[in-house]
Amino acid sequence: MEFVSTGPEMTRRFGAGLAGKARPGQVFALDGDLGAGKTVFAQGFAAGLGIEDYVNSPTFTILQVYEGGRLKLYHFDVYRIEDPEEMYEIGADTFFYGDGVCLVEWASQIEDLLPGDTVYVQIAKMPEKGYDCRKITVRGMQP
Ligand code: ADP
Ligand code: MG
Repeated sequence: MEFVSTGPEMTRRFGAGLAGKARPGQVFALDGDLGAGKTVFAQGFAAGLGIEDYVNSPTFTILQVYEGGRLKLYHFDVYRIEDPEEMYEIGADTFFYGDGVCLVEWASQIEDLLPGDTVYVQIAKMPEKGYDCRKITVRGMQP
């Protein structure tokens, strides 16, 4: 599925829409350049689960957990992961195969650890279309 977003609010709404369909134990792998909109998507996704906390990039903690929504949200940013072992150390696989929903920014860094039924969300800038345009491509989402 491909979607063109023309601004951050639209990306948030799109993330909220996917969150509405998210099932327990699902993993959403987010990729795209720095500033593409992965965290903006995550903000919408969290809101779509009914989470009211402010969501920002967990870059310095790798993992931020949000409760209070329809499902527990595990928000990862694995940009700084150098060795996939670090993911095991924080118990990532128990979250990937648990009852909450996982969002992983820079997921391609830990490609080999992602479950087989991961949903892939790629966000790409579209400089030819305008500064605020993004192409969002979703693969692996069941209808
Ligand atoms: P990432 O997490 O991918 O590094 P962020 O989500 O932190 O990126 O930042 C995206 C930036 O791009 C924000 O400043 C946001 O306002 C801006 N932006 C502009 N247009 C869009 C859009 N269509 N979708 C998402 N973000 C956008
Ligand atoms: Mg980010």
